[in-house]
Amino acid sequence: MSIEVITFGCRLNAFESEVIAREASGAGLSDTVVINSCAVTNEAVAQARQSIRRLKRERPAARIVVTGCAAQTQAKMFADMGEVDRVIGNDDKMRSSAWRAARAAFDVEAAEKIAVSDIMAVTEMAPHLVDGFQSGLPRVFVQVQNGCDHRCTFCIIPFGRGNSRSVPMGAVVDQVRALVERGHAEIVLTGVDLTSYGADLPGAPKLGTLTRQILRHVPELRRLRISSIDSIEADADLLDVIAGDERLMPHLHLSLQSGDDLILKRMKRRHLRQHAIDFCAQVRRLRPDIALGADIIAGFPTETDEAFKRSEDLVEQCGLTFLHVFPYSPRPGTPAARMPQVASSLIKERAKRLRAAGEAALRQRLGSEIGKTRDVLIESEKLGRTEHYLPVAISSDTPGKVRRLAMTGHDGARLLA
Ligand code: SF4
Repeated sequence: MSIEVITFGCRLNAFESEVIAREASGAGLSDTVVINSCAVTNEAVAQARQSIRRLKRERPAARIVVTGCAAQTQAKMFADMGEVDRVIGNDDKMRSSAWRAARAAFDVEAAEKIAVSDIMAVTEMAPHLVDGFQSGLPRVFVQVQNGCDHRCTFCIIPFGRGNSRSVPMGAVVDQVRALVERGHAEIVLTGVDLTSYGADLPGAPKLGTLTRQILRHVPELRRLRISSIDSIEADADLLDVIAGDERLMPHLHLSLQSGDDLILKRMKRRHLRQHAIDFCAQVRRLRPDIALGADIIAGFPTETDEAFKRSEDLVEQCGLTFLHVFPYSPRPGTPAARMPQVASSLIKERAKRLRAAGEAALRQRLGSEIGKTRDVLIESEKLGRTEHYLPVAISSDTPGKVRRLAMTGHDGARLLA
């Protein structure tokens, strides 16, 4: 029996699960299930626990290993579960030594389950050359940065992933080239705090520098996409590439979190409402057809109706197309969890209103696309995505192909071509 890796959470975990699968089988482990967990909300942690119990019922002989951000921040909680055989740290999971140690522990039925090192002591990223994704999906993620030096008051991520560190540019270019040669049509650069890329590298290259290097040294790459960024930290080079290179997809996802300045201060964010609005206007001047998305939290502690209203109307003020709504979830150990909380019914209602605003914004953008011709990356037989990341319903086609298609209509959630 092989190794099965179950991935929760973000694109970073998706990339890391490819490395885990390779390292765990390389260590000679078998009949083992690895839960690559997420800690961003209480719900995410609960889902990992439920999966562990279900898996042990379904596969009583299998070894269960838990890793990822929830394992890093709540190792003992997982180790206390009878179903769990090993808890491996979030940096340790990327090292073959951790999997060899797990194999050795299983061989002697060692009592000690926890193998989690101090994530705050990690200063470097072990570059991993992944030459393909088991998923075989046409769009794949390349991790270029990990950890975060900021300490937003609602966020548990720095405690799960440590401080910011970057993959050297040369290793990133090699990684992208290997995946393009393997036939992956679109590369998404991913990290925890992408705009802090390079601050720890010699010469402190910026995200814009990295993007330019990739496009210069991998001419075969047709579509480069950037995952979530902190708009206030976007560098001049990045803006230049956005303006000047068609191969960088006209789509940005912004970590905005709120539209109210007092709440942004209480979140310890680095931007104010007007910065977000100005940034969106600036990138739209540079790339008029750009599609913008954002993360917004509903019901952050002390958020009043007026403050929430300012988040709601930010959708229009910034001309957003995609909205990821996060109902506030108090994470143990974060400063926001100790602030006066908003009633959960109000959090739910506000999240609902934000989602409705997001759906209306998407419909508006879909409507404006009718009659336009777009380059659509075919993701599956029934679905593709334009350069702007807009979903397109297609009859049947070959995943991985990029087709130039005329948009003929939409069904409220997807374009029709
Ligand atoms: S920037 Fe803030 S929200 Fe983002 S990972 Fe860092 S601490 Fe968390």
